[in-house]
Amino acid sequence: MSTPAQHISATDRPSLDAWPHAVMAALALLITLISAHLVRLTWFDAPASQPLNQPAPIWHARPSLPLAGSDVAAQAVVSRLARSDFADSMFAVMGAPSAPIGLVGEAGRKAEHIGEYIASRDSIALAPQAIHSDAQLAHALVHELAHLWLSHHPDAGAAFQRSLPPLEDSSRYGFGDRSEHAAEALAHAIQFWRASSMVRGTDAQLRLLAAYESIMPGATSALAMLDAHGAFFNAGLDTGVPLPGGL
Ligand SMILES: [Zn+2]
Repeated sequence: MSTPAQHISATDRPSLDAWPHAVMAALALLITLISAHLVRLTWFDAPASQPLNQPAPIWHARPSLPLAGSDVAAQAVVSRLARSDFADSMFAVMGAPSAPIGLVGEAGRKAEHIGEYIASRDSIALAPQAIHSDAQLAHALVHELAHLWLSHHPDAGAAFQRSLPPLEDSSRYGFGDRSEHAAEALAHAIQFWRASSMVRGTDAQLRLLAAYESIMPGATSALAMLDAHGAFFNAGLDTGVPLPGGL
């Protein structure tokens, strides 16, 4: 009768060599098990690899910090944005404000505004103290530039507002407010145009436009309106999609 340990040592090798070998084998097995467990954990944590036929993983929201905690830091964020290629492109398509981008004032911040277009000064203010990502900052700028564009094109803007179907989803920004709906539809048109840069002129681009339209009704006619007024052409750009006649 022999135990497994005796069996291992019942070779030509000295028994002292066998122990490290057994320890190494056990360690290798342990590492394999741990690795498998880690891979499994990573797989469950990564939404991008989640198969569609599996239940969605539990998602824990983590509180994020705003882009700035003070007016000085907020001004730095806004100045960096204003100097960016992104802002250059947006100004080329939608027009530039008449003054440097400033910060939303105390009253606006109390009203939870993350951006404002001040028509009397043709200027834009943003609130990085209440904005939590670069994408949100970029969208706030596009939305306020949409107000600027509508202000610069009052007749088209008024006709566009009248043409908008009422929003039925109360969670959509602009619900019950045609002016905000118009600006957000223009902003979505611009965001669609940015997002579709890799699929210009293809069916995929049209499907994407339909998706944007379903999220924000009026995005397609907003794109057509911008195109009809030369917003893209004047910037040396093209929408890439066949659009209905101008509004
Ligand atoms: Zn607005």
